[in-house]
Amino acid sequence: MSYLHQLEPGQAVDLAQMPTQGKRLYDGDKETAVAEFEALREELIELQNRFYAEGKRKLLIVFQAMDAGGKDGAIRSILRGVNPQGVRVYPFKVPSKEDLDHDFLWRIHKVVPGKGMIGVFNRSHYEDVLVVRVHNIVPEAVWRPRYEQINQFEKLLTDTGTTILKFYLHISADEQKKRFQARLDDPSKHWKFAVEDIEKRKFWDDYMAAYEEMLARCTTPWSPWRVIPADQKWYRDLAITRDIVTTLNQLNPQYPPPADDLSQVVIN
Ligand code: AMP
Ligand code: MG
Repeated sequence: MSYLHQLEPGQAVDLAQMPTQGKRLYDGDKETAVAEFEALREELIELQNRFYAEGKRKLLIVFQAMDAGGKDGAIRSILRGVNPQGVRVYPFKVPSKEDLDHDFLWRIHKVVPGKGMIGVFNRSHYEDVLVVRVHNIVPEAVWRPRYEQINQFEKLLTDTGTTILKFYLHISADEQKKRFQARLDDPSKHWKFAVEDIEKRKFWDDYMAAYEEMLARCTTPWSPWRVIPADQKWYRDLAITRDIVTTLNQLNPQYPPPADDLSQVVIN
């Protein structure tokens, strides 16, 4: 199976020309897509079980998106039912004083997945060339070299047994507006709403420019980005799960042989 939404190294990225509407790409209705997703999710559960049991390799899944882009929702629906012992989800927030006393990859490197584990980053080291760039949190002379520093960091990880899957959830500005409004209208979603999000929305075009540059510069042969049309949640979940399942099938994890000879074991 080919990867529909994966970028090629060197490819120019123009987000305005890239689809946010998955339903236009899907050959079927929403019900068919949901059924396909559910089948893939079952397969993911089985593959993750083997990946964890094998305990040799590592999988890192990175999610980036604008606010309300669907990172939390995708993680919740795609990972439902997997063995929680083999998966760690890390949401990256504003760095702490201690984080800032170190290089920007310090807090990231500490929590990359170990053998047999799937690590999921809800936001990531990429914030350091996104929010940091758009709001001038550090000067360009500091953030500009980070593209290359990130590429080398990801090279180190992949050279040492980690497969990296990076998903940018691509929503339109209209869809973000709808989702913000839904959050405002629903008291159970108020906790997710930060007035700051409205401020950041004013910088939409600057964010798109920052995303375009990081998608282009940090799509390497060892760690390409995927741009997922994310206005329809059902398409988003299907497209992401497809790529995770395809990748795990290629890794083809195996249950390890028993540590002891079990052929003569009798349980009294
Ligand atoms: P949320 O994902 O809605 O919980 O929000 C987390 C917030 O942390 C977002 O506003 C991010 O932009 C912010 N954030 C994450 N990483 C960084 C970083 N390296 N520097 C500055 N802000 C960050
Ligand atoms: Mg938020």
